[in-house]
Amino acid sequence: MFGRKGLDVKTPDQIRRMRLAGLVVGETLELIRGLAGAGMTTGDLDRTAEDFIRSKGATPSFLGYHGFTGSLCVSVNEEVVHGIPGPRILREGDLVSIDCGAIVDGWHGDAAISLIVGGREAGSARDCALMDATLASMWAGITALAVGCRLYEVGAAVEDCIVDAARADGLTYGIVEDYVGHGIGTEMHQDPQVPNYRVRDRGPVVKSGVTVAIEPMVTLGSAETDVLEDDWTVVTQDGSRAAHWEHSVAVTDAGIWVLTALDGGQEQLEALAAAYAPLV
Ligand code: MG
Ligand code: MG
Repeated sequence: MFGRKGLDVKTPDQIRRMRLAGLVVGETLELIRGLAGAGMTTGDLDRTAEDFIRSKGATPSFLGYHGFTGSLCVSVNEEVVHGIPGPRILREGDLVSIDCGAIVDGWHGDAAISLIVGGREAGSARDCALMDATLASMWAGITALAVGCRLYEVGAAVEDCIVDAARADGLTYGIVEDYVGHGIGTEMHQDPQVPNYRVRDRGPVVKSGVTVAIEPMVTLGSAETDVLEDDWTVVTQDGSRAAHWEHSVAVTDAGIWVLTALDGGQEQLEALAAAYAPLV
């Protein structure tokens, strides 16, 4: 059903149910974005997120996933993804990526944001530029999606966006290749994988009802990563800082619905002249 070459498709009703999970994820990330401040621990953020997710009648999908102990992944500075929430205290100027997943009635949502503790004015120009370039590359990848396109055009769009941004910003950006986007539905991670870079294969043809998580991870240096001894935390090998943005997206004949964006992606999609297509 989820063959390497094929793409699982969802019915409109199933996509509407995924939207409910996506909204819980989007609301959780909005809450955490407003809360993340200097002096808080990553564990504080995690407890708030778990309580909020449960208050919505949803289940945190990360908690217990292959033994993961958090409801969020909180990855600070040189940590790329999969940071375990705990006693680490956030400091002004930290570049923090927060990844969240929730399940509603068996359907998953998965999204991530990056932020600077203390706000952009507390961040270095380089970190802000990295965060912005990574965000823009996620939207470039999302807007590359359309029925009839080939799935790996997403990665080509992400890569082109990052290459252009690196030139414009006068910085070196590395696109992480060890971790990629993925199909999503009744499981958080479904086939196929969605690379964030150009590959030889063009990938499967995108059909109406495809749902995927698009999630570029970009560094201020090399793209090489290591996993810490906790077996989870992914860090850059060269110690450079990293940013991560993610949305779960549904593609239909009418266009794109960003399931984990509170506005369904309307503002960004319209700004980028892409078809915003909520299922009502
Ligand atoms: Mg995620
Ligand atoms: Mg994901």
